[in-house]
Amino acid sequence: MSLFYPTIYRRRITDLSVELMHRLGVQGILLDVDNTLTPHDDPTVDASILAWLDTVRQAGFLLMVVSNNSDERVRPFAEKLGLGYQAKAAKPLPHGYRAAARAMGFSPRHCLVVGDQIFTDILGANLAGMPSVLLEPIEPEVKQKFIVFKRRIERLLMRNARQRRRREGDYENA
Ligand SMILES: [Mg+2]
Repeated sequence: MSLFYPTIYRRRITDLSVELMHRLGVQGILLDVDNTLTPHDDPTVDASILAWLDTVRQAGFLLMVVSNNSDERVRPFAEKLGLGYQAKAAKPLPHGYRAAARAMGFSPRHCLVVGDQIFTDILGANLAGMPSVLLEPIEPEVKQKFIVFKRRIERLLMRNARQRRRREGDYENA
């Protein structure tokens, strides 16, 4: 079951402080696109997220986009942000994450996966041996039936995880 649990969870990507990432011991950050940086199929990025990217870059972290979406969606998006990218990464298979870590010159445990889906981002991070942050999706999916189904199971898993963390006294993440 632990393959489905993130290292931590937060509401928004902007809730990830530089201090927290130092505490996690990471140097590279692998970012999901859809519903992590921007709503599905939205080519724009919110100003608060642009500011966060700047802060994190200035603090010396390397960032890369790792998305299951197509090259047509991911490339212009990553280029606009000035980030390297992996499109069609086939998450939760870990090879896209591992390739991104190699490209940045870091070992997997020094790369933080940031995403909004347990069954792609978090499972992939755990298979790749990377710490991870599960975010709440920016916008609820109503049209993508398969994602709506996965969200239901995710909620059950997260409820379980919260109960476990409370039992273990980890109130920061509970
Ligand atoms: Mg996503």
